[in-house]
Amino acid sequence: MSRRFFVRGPLRAGTLHLAGPEAHHLVRVLRIGVGQSVVLFDGGDFEAPADVTGVEPGGVELVVHEPRVSRTEPAVDLVLAVAVPKGDRFGWLVEKATELGVRRLVPLVTERSVVVPGPGKLEKMRRTIIEASKQCRRTRLMELAEPAEWPAFLLQEPAAGNIWLAHPGGAPFDCGQIYDAGRVVVAVGPEGGFTEAEVELAASRGAALVSLGPRVLRIETATLVLAALITACRSS
Ligand code: SAH
Repeated sequence: MSRRFFVRGPLRAGTLHLAGPEAHHLVRVLRIGVGQSVVLFDGGDFEAPADVTGVEPGGVELVVHEPRVSRTEPAVDLVLAVAVPKGDRFGWLVEKATELGVRRLVPLVTERSVVVPGPGKLEKMRRTIIEASKQCRRTRLMELAEPAEWPAFLLQEPAAGNIWLAHPGGAPFDCGQIYDAGRVVVAVGPEGGFTEAEVELAASRGAALVSLGPRVLRIETATLVLAALITACRSS
């Protein structure tokens, strides 16, 4: 199985010069050399086989073959709006959400939030998304949005009627409740939970409150369970 590398922007057949972290990974980490084949993907819907034709200190020369459409995206346009867990648990969540085919992840700022990722952390997470995409053979990069305040997110979200808010007091999960609208939003609160006012605001915007059972789950557990359930409901 060919190794995969991310190339930003439209992929075209022809020659390509690859530099930066992806070139470093190709040459220094994996020690791929002239004559070997790889697969390039563009962060959108395309990927292309390519042959390494030159290796220099500044980068790698490749001949790219005809790009083809990749079919690794799930049927559902899934958005995760989640309070940010502490430390490495956010990186783990970002990696797994990428693997599950999530389209967009919005770090939420809620009344009880303790972590708001800064630019450095977000940059690091975008690198995690690229690494996870390479590993799971996804071509589209999950979008990591700037942190958003909960009320502002609710007002801007066009799919407000299709928000599933994970809440211990909610109704049991039911696939039949997911409308056929393209996009579904999963919202998960911080370790201290959403406040009553935050829950009410979401309900007034049409959000459905969904329980995932009698145990208190970590942010990342609740998020990924709900993401997997919704993806499975919409896979046919
Ligand atoms: N301290 C809160 C729990 C917060 S857990 C309490 O005792 O209620 C962090 C978030 O994960 C919650 O805001 C909720 O969105 C989600 N969550 C955790 N366990 C859940 C469950 N059993 N059902 C639904 N959502 C859950």
